[in-house]
Amino acid sequence: MAQSSVTPTVLSIAGFDPYSGAGILADSKVIHALSGYALCVTTALTAQNSTGVYDVLPTPVEHFKAQLFTLLDDMQVDAVKIGMLANAEIVMVIAEAIEKYALKNIVLDTVLVSSSGKSLFEEEALSVMIEKLFPVVDVITPNIPEVNRLLDTKFTGTKEEIETMAKGLFDLGAKRVLIKGGHSADTLNATDYFVDNDFHKETFSTARILTTHTHGTGCVLSSGIAAYLAKGESINRSIYLAKEFLYQRLCTASDIVFKYCTSNTVRKEPLI
Ligand code: PLP
Repeated sequence: MAQSSVTPTVLSIAGFDPYSGAGILADSKVIHALSGYALCVTTALTAQNSTGVYDVLPTPVEHFKAQLFTLLDDMQVDAVKIGMLANAEIVMVIAEAIEKYALKNIVLDTVLVSSSGKSLFEEEALSVMIEKLFPVVDVITPNIPEVNRLLDTKFTGTKEEIETMAKGLFDLGAKRVLIKGGHSADTLNATDYFVDNDFHKETFSTARILTTHTHGTGCVLSSGIAAYLAKGESINRSIYLAKEFLYQRLCTASDIVFKYCTSNTVRKEPLI
């Protein structure tokens, strides 16, 4: 007799990367690898390859709303990952959906600029994201450059600065922050700091892996956290498990795409 099981659902609201290492395609791969069912709504189409991001076409807002609300009219979601947001109109629709559908277990990856320098979020929309999303999501996951952009600081990623940066982000409305240390000067470890607004801290550290497979690391971590939240894990354990998943992937990422890239200016290979 077939055994029935219930697969937790995770909604990824993010950009479309045809190179498949970031955005909804990467999130979907992560969510399925972690035994969830991925639902995906895209904020933007992008033109990109191993050398960088070349063009961005935000989803027309009426259509974006139709994608999101049509799905949520029908499907319950156990967790949500929010990535590339493109513009303020998209942010407003997401905020409306969070309220209307009482969405929970929400991870916001504060994606602002691709590492190749292409803006993935309109500069003027930053204050809208802060005002509308920071107070209603469960955790934000900025990296060091994003913390500096959000707070106008020169944070370098040291342990001593974390409390001040977390306080700055709480003052902007965030409830919990995972400050990712991947861009720090620490050559031995990749250390992320989780702080909640009672200033309970937890440090998550793995050995730093020297690899070119860094395209999509933020997407893998944030969608991994959402996948574990969807399974009922606590936020701290979800971060721990997602970081372990990311670490394993960094250790074992396949060279297949690199082998097939014809460009001689390959910058980054997908992690997943
Ligand atoms: N494209 C999309 C859709 C993304 O979500 C992201 C980052 O989250 C990127 C591109 C940037 O990736 P990278 O910085 O590795 O180029």
